[in-house]
Amino acid sequence: MLSEYEPLSPETLPHRLGGLPAVAEAVGGPPEAWRVAEVGDGNLNLVFIVEGSSGSVIVKQALPYVRLVGDSWPLPLKRAFFEYNALIRQEAVDPGIVPKVAYFDEDQALIVMERLSPHIILRGQTMAGRKVEELGRVMGRFCARTAFRCSDLSMDAGQKKADVALFSGNVELCDITENLVFTDPYFDAEMNRHTAPQLDGVVDELRADKALKIEAQHMKRAFTARAETLCHGDLHAGSIMVTGDSVRIIDPEFAFYGPMGFDIGMLIGNYLMAYHSMSAHIPDAEERAAYQEWLLEVTRETWVSFTDEFRRLWATERTGILYPVTLYEDQGHADAAEAARDELLAEIFADLLGFAGIEMHRRILGLAHVAEFDSIENEDLRAPLEERSLRLGRDLVLRRRQITDIDTVLAMARERE
Ligand code: ADP
Ligand code: MG
Ligand code: MG
Ligand code: MG
Repeated sequence: MLSEYEPLSPETLPHRLGGLPAVAEAVGGPPEAWRVAEVGDGNLNLVFIVEGSSGSVIVKQALPYVRLVGDSWPLPLKRAFFEYNALIRQEAVDPGIVPKVAYFDEDQALIVMERLSPHIILRGQTMAGRKVEELGRVMGRFCARTAFRCSDLSMDAGQKKADVALFSGNVELCDITENLVFTDPYFDAEMNRHTAPQLDGVVDELRADKALKIEAQHMKRAFTARAETLCHGDLHAGSIMVTGDSVRIIDPEFAFYGPMGFDIGMLIGNYLMAYHSMSAHIPDAEERAAYQEWLLEVTRETWVSFTDEFRRLWATERTGILYPVTLYEDQGHADAAEAARDELLAEIFADLLGFAGIEMHRRILGLAHVAEFDSIENEDLRAPLEERSLRLGRDLVLRRRQITDIDTVLAMARERE
């Protein structure tokens, strides 16, 4: 293995990684006989499937620039270090949810990991109208476990502060979110694009909405300032791999310490955009309506599962410096601990709604769009569906403190349908 960084290719990979026991054992057979394919469909990195006589692995390597844009937009290799560190923490707090890491090389910015198979990316499944058992339950539980177990509710204070310091180095990836997610959608930024001219009117309306711009920056302040817990940072339908009944999570290179409602908010924003896009993907009205209701049920289940797991952890694992048991239960004030928990959950819910709404805006107005809408070639069909998500997003952001339950969110989504 070289120590100076050099991108791998299908041709060089067997020779360069063939000597690593972690890879050779998992793949099997002589490296010359390995089959290597580059499958990266993401915006940023190289991803290889390496197959041999006894199995296969994934090799993910960062590039020193944004793959989607090219070398005019440099991006540090160090993101592989943050992805690796997030993967091992996510595995520790929610075992089995992420691919197992077999090997990490910081100089080469590469991670060798378990190949999820026959899993495929969730986004393609929902666009095809296919259901995934327990999607909401597993995702809500993951968000709750990472939110709780990586925070001062449970972690050792010294460990937590060391972790905050470690992930605070992920400057450039946070910068992408700070700009592309929280800022660019709300003005005529250079890298923006939207369905034009059909959406020009509503886009002008959103950019003239002062209350919305204030609230979006409140959410951005939460993102930058509130180092509560280890967030995945990029939890959309392209970071979830599924079979009909198994759900796994990949790609935490945007990991950072942030608000407890960030991941689940971004995720729910993606469910709601899928919901609004379905008339382009399922032509039969009855079938479509049933699938859309399933998407809303997943949305509801994700939040219910989050709260169930959060409450369970609150009762059983509150070992950190926050809301200590010594102050509440030990003084006969268990009811106060429950009240504190419910106030915290209400705050997380309000944040979730804000992050969901902003995610819906940036995916329609910013640089990085979602395939649910982008794949609709007829712009006159696409624009009204996008407009529903834009308007729902706005309502979620502006009413986030007034909406108190998930059923109201589902009703708002149906109203915009
Ligand atoms: P990027 O950071 O560039 O978005 P991802 O980690 O999302 O890269 O990976 C890109 C694609 O590679 C995924 O959409 C998926 O199809 C495939 N992939 C990534 N990791 C795995 C894995 N552990 N098992 C199987 N396929 C994977
Ligand atoms: Mg990805
Ligand atoms: Mg046009
Ligand atoms: Mg990525």
